[in-house]
Amino acid sequence: MEEMIYMAMRAEYIWIDGTKPLPYVRSKTKIVPDGTTEFSIWGFDGSSTNQAPGDNSDCVLRPVFVCPDPIRGGNDVLVLCDVCLPDGKMTPHPSNTRAACVAAYEKYGDQEPIFGIEQEYTFFQEGRPLGWPVEGYPAPQGPYYCGVGSIEIAGRDIVEAHTTACMNAGLTISGTNAEVMLGQWEFQIGPLDTVRAADEIWVARYLLYRIAEDFGVDASVDAKPVRGDWNGAGAHTNFSTKAMREGYEPIITACEALGAEGKIAEHLAGYGTGSEERLTGHHETQRFDEYSYGVSDRGASVRIPWQVHLDQKGYIEDRRPNANMDPYVVNRLITNTCCEALA
Ligand code: ADP
Ligand code: MN
Ligand code: MN
Ligand code: MN
Repeated sequence: MEEMIYMAMRAEYIWIDGTKPLPYVRSKTKIVPDGTTEFSIWGFDGSSTNQAPGDNSDCVLRPVFVCPDPIRGGNDVLVLCDVCLPDGKMTPHPSNTRAACVAAYEKYGDQEPIFGIEQEYTFFQEGRPLGWPVEGYPAPQGPYYCGVGSIEIAGRDIVEAHTTACMNAGLTISGTNAEVMLGQWEFQIGPLDTVRAADEIWVARYLLYRIAEDFGVDASVDAKPVRGDWNGAGAHTNFSTKAMREGYEPIITACEALGAEGKIAEHLAGYGTGSEERLTGHHETQRFDEYSYGVSDRGASVRIPWQVHLDQKGYIEDRRPNANMDPYVVNRLITNTCCEALA
């Protein structure tokens, strides 16, 4: 009898769970025929992810974004999914924030909104930030931001592995830097459209957690990982439309729209948890209960970069989103608020 050789590849299905207030990233592996390019829907036990009761536990995974798996290599892929109900109609699950983000982009896509997101995070090991002494604190903040040297830096090998992985996955990673607090880092994704920027942030977060796991380190997106005179972790969200990239008046219109009555509270509620702890008015932030915008002002809620003021066109930076924000929610809010005002 002739033996059949069945060639296969792995697809890592990734989704966002329903844990509150902050969801976890989940993933599981599907073995599919080698060369597969169309990925089918799949299911999981929602009762184990805070997405369904035990007696009606099935949830549906709908593939929305596929890229090479840079960890496994070969033909293996990562398959980002959103979560739907098992009702045969692919109704978005209540925990699915992507569907509304897609709707905002469909409504205002003609304005060509684009996003660049600065994702800050902090490495932890044995209950303290990486590089911190067992007792007490490291030397005060000052030398760590964009630092070089073994006293100034902790975790660079993990950062390099993550950056390489993002590049090999084909993500639009545009830079990385060490942050103000020892053990804290940043990477940037974009510029990309409303939905794609958010999809890529979630895949980049997956890769960060997965790679840090190999180093026995936890990567945290806590907004204020250490109380006191230590910087919090944000996700500055840079935004523009075609009109903003061509003129200054639309830049001001967008800044004003974000500060309009009702919008301040609505946005803050969707910008992740820990705003009261992080947005103190110190450590390069505006207070969470105040709104301001200004040129080059890192103490403002929204900053107009100096180059943008000089060129009289470009983009704005909303500095309020916390590191733990859901980019589907942040990008939906900014797209709706700014594009409505610019329409
Ligand atoms: P910062 O000085 O605040 O640390 P970064 O260099 O970390 O700035 O991040 C700037 C971000 O702005 C990048 O993610 C980049 O992709 C994004 N960006 C640049 N131009 C635009 C634009 N026209 N619209 C939206 N985002 C943009
Ligand atoms: Mn930055
Ligand atoms: Mn930063
Ligand atoms: Mn910034």
